[in-house]
Amino acid sequence: MPPSYSRAEIQALKVLDECGLDEPTDFLIETIIRGRGCSYEEKALTGKEGEIVSFHDQSIITINSGIDFFPKKRFAQAHELGHYELHREILPMISDTEYNMVSWFQSNPYEKEANEFAAEFLMPTEIFRKECSGDLEPDLIDYLSDGFNVSKTAAMLKFVKCGHVPVGLVYCKDNKMGWFKATDDFKEYIEFDYGMPPPFGTVAFEMFNTKNVYQGDERMQDIYKSCWLKLKHQEQDYMIREFCLFVPSYNYTLSLIWVI
Ligand SMILES: [Zn+2]
Repeated sequence: MPPSYSRAEIQALKVLDECGLDEPTDFLIETIIRGRGCSYEEKALTGKEGEIVSFHDQSIITINSGIDFFPKKRFAQAHELGHYELHREILPMISDTEYNMVSWFQSNPYEKEANEFAAEFLMPTEIFRKECSGDLEPDLIDYLSDGFNVSKTAAMLKFVKCGHVPVGLVYCKDNKMGWFKATDDFKEYIEFDYGMPPPFGTVAFEMFNTKNVYQGDERMQDIYKSCWLKLKHQEQDYMIREFCLFVPSYNYTLSLIWVI
């Protein structure tokens, strides 16, 4: 199925094209930002990951110099570049917390667009899809996040969006469900209840309650389908898989769920 693109994604591909790039893995994003006519600096910011200030025809992007994880810094840079490309004439100043960059289902349309821009800019859909062959397992997510130099969170979200296998992704923060994203075949079956703890029997439930983090091959756990997905009429329960990523610095989990 050919991908359908949002306005922000189209703009991301246009910027790549105008820079003569298929994808920006081998380039520093700040070089691209400056090449687009925007000033760039890094300095200590309190409670913010990045910001952009625009005045007349001048814009400056500032990224928090305290970000010590390179893929996270690249996402913040691409997010601010998205604001520059899409919103600089509408919004004179935008400040971004980490929350803005992990909350993909917030109502603010400008933040949603900046995240869509960043995801497409860093992981162009057509190239990403070609790299998604092979069985879904944690190693594939590692391969994608390493290859595109993005966080596992960003790679998981893109994987679900590409939607070539039935899969769901549930975000929980502070032991409460925050949002989910799923392919059409999963969407109506996910056991999602906003603000409630993840269901008993899920790996997310276990992580919040025991702080147990699985490593290596154990990152992929078998769980009963009925823990995360509503069973169809008269359907027998069976085992499905959950790869639950725990991000202790922000106390959130991301559960990737799929059928074996
Ligand atoms: Zn933003």
